[in-house]
Amino acid sequence: MRKVSIFGATGSIGQNTIDLIARAPESYDVVALTGGHNIEQLAADAQRVGANLAVTAFDARLDDLKNALTGTGVEAASGQAALTEAASRPADWVMSAIVGAAGLAPGLEALKHGATLALANKESLVCAGSLILETARTHDACLLPVDSEHSAIFQALVGEDMGAVERIIITASGGAFRDWPLVDLENATPDQASSHPNWDMGQRITIDSASMFNKAMEVIETREFFGVSPDQIEVIVHPESIVHALVGFRDGALMAHLGAPDMRHAIGYALHWPDRLDLPVERLDLAKLGQLNFRAPEDARYPALRLARWVMERGGLSGAVFNGAKERALDHFIAGRIGFLDMAILVEQVLDRFEAGSGLIDAAMTLDNVTETDHLARQWTDDAMVNRAG
Ligand code: NAD
Ligand code: MG
Repeated sequence: MRKVSIFGATGSIGQNTIDLIARAPESYDVVALTGGHNIEQLAADAQRVGANLAVTAFDARLDDLKNALTGTGVEAASGQAALTEAASRPADWVMSAIVGAAGLAPGLEALKHGATLALANKESLVCAGSLILETARTHDACLLPVDSEHSAIFQALVGEDMGAVERIIITASGGAFRDWPLVDLENATPDQASSHPNWDMGQRITIDSASMFNKAMEVIETREFFGVSPDQIEVIVHPESIVHALVGFRDGALMAHLGAPDMRHAIGYALHWPDRLDLPVERLDLAKLGQLNFRAPEDARYPALRLARWVMERGGLSGAVFNGAKERALDHFIAGRIGFLDMAILVEQVLDRFEAGSGLIDAAMTLDNVTETDHLARQWTDDAMVNRAG
């Protein structure tokens, strides 16, 4: 039996992971599940998969969790320290599917204990790529991609020499507003941004798909994960979300990964790697699909992609600034305090301020420095809002 833990178990990726694990209960011993405010789901899943421990990220919800688990034998805990403690419990395979920078510390802890970390939490790599990779190396832990594009790249690279790789192309659906006239984007609402044309995901990543902040983070994730240079990474808009990524080799060959837009493919690949086992995902009918379309992303529509290039040039803690500012700007957009286009404007202002004078700009990449930078970036995003209002 493999010992597994799922961080962010109540979310979209977490639920898909539980779906796969619950199909083969005899194969898995579930150590810990974590969630946030959805206590009912967390408690129900903990019982369903026989988890030893359930953790809510929020202390205020601990009593609810304890009540929901009374008499079940499942241990209940709450808060950041409990998340880290859960990640330190021996496990063979850990799913990192918390949304946002909050996923970084538990992921690092799991790597320090030698677990294989299936990384859906792309924010970890954006904020602290070298720290994650270095921690995995030092502790001989394995890091596996779960983002669909990165799983696709990883699969296209099996048996290949990285020296033969010329370029990596990641596809983007273009999100909810890909066909909207540019002038209308200014008035796009959170509800409109929360509906994805192809994928069923958490609200935050869905809005990030509409703004392409998600793709911008994935470009950075590609650079960190595969060690390629920024100019080797391309983004192409592919409305059908069937081709997830392509790897181009020095002989001109392009290896593409195709599959139905179902995250259980990438999760299952990481769960069973290096083997391939049966997965309950739709098989593509290419004749029925008929055609696949590709087009270049428009710069004016997707400023986030330009900001990602800047971050990759700057390196260091600039990724933590980018992510922290983006997360805060997204909070403000969801709360209706700013418009859709304001998110990229605020993030750029925060990056400018960081470059112009931050004591942290050349600081070492430690968890403390990343956390401090993340807080600073959120604070500066609020400052930028006040300045705009004033
Ligand atoms: P989601 O919003 O559906 O779920 C997020 C999970 O994180 C929930 O369990 C929630 O309780 C937990 N959480 C939220 N805030 C927390 C905090 N402060 N501390 C601890 N836990 C907290 O998100 P999702 O769509 O499942 O995405 C999870 C991660 O996977 C993100 O990093 C996202 O970018 C990445 N990802 C998601 C998809 C997808 O299809 N949903 C695809 C690729 C990558
Ligand atoms: Mg993705």
